[in-house]
Amino acid sequence: MLVVDLHCEHGHVFEGWFASADDLASQQARGLVSCPVCASTEVVRRPSAARLNVSSQQLPDVTPGANPGAEPGAPSMAALQAMYLQAVRHVLQHTEDVGEGFVKEVRNIHRGDAPRRAVRGQADQEEVAELKEEGIDVMPLPVPEALKGPLQ
Ligand SMILES: [Zn+2]
Repeated sequence: MLVVDLHCEHGHVFEGWFASADDLASQQARGLVSCPVCASTEVVRRPSAARLNVSSQQLPDVTPGANPGAEPGAPSMAALQAMYLQAVRHVLQHTEDVGEGFVKEVRNIHRGDAPRRAVRGQADQEEVAELKEEGIDVMPLPVPEALKGPLQ
């Protein structure tokens, strides 16, 4: 059984069922394939993505660790991690930890009720979404366990 997408000269799209591609061709040649909407027999088969048989297995392999697309001189994974740790450390050193009071404090700063400064602390996803709605920029920053200790 062959299922094909067809469209008529007026752009009506419909599905046709045929025993085979030959069956489709011969029915079309004899004017037996007509549009169910306008009965036009000027019907052509249209390419259908669903029948191109695309599967995820045909996508290029991405092997963790290997980086075939990387440009020469691109930083390695270890270098990137080191850069990230450095960035986090920088943020930790240049922000004030307000902990649980984070959400309240950023609102105060936003309203001008508290001195303008960079703060960090805990907020859940919902609170972060609320802050963003209020026009307050917050950045989630997962802090690696290794960096937490000495700073508190
Ligand atoms: Zn039609």
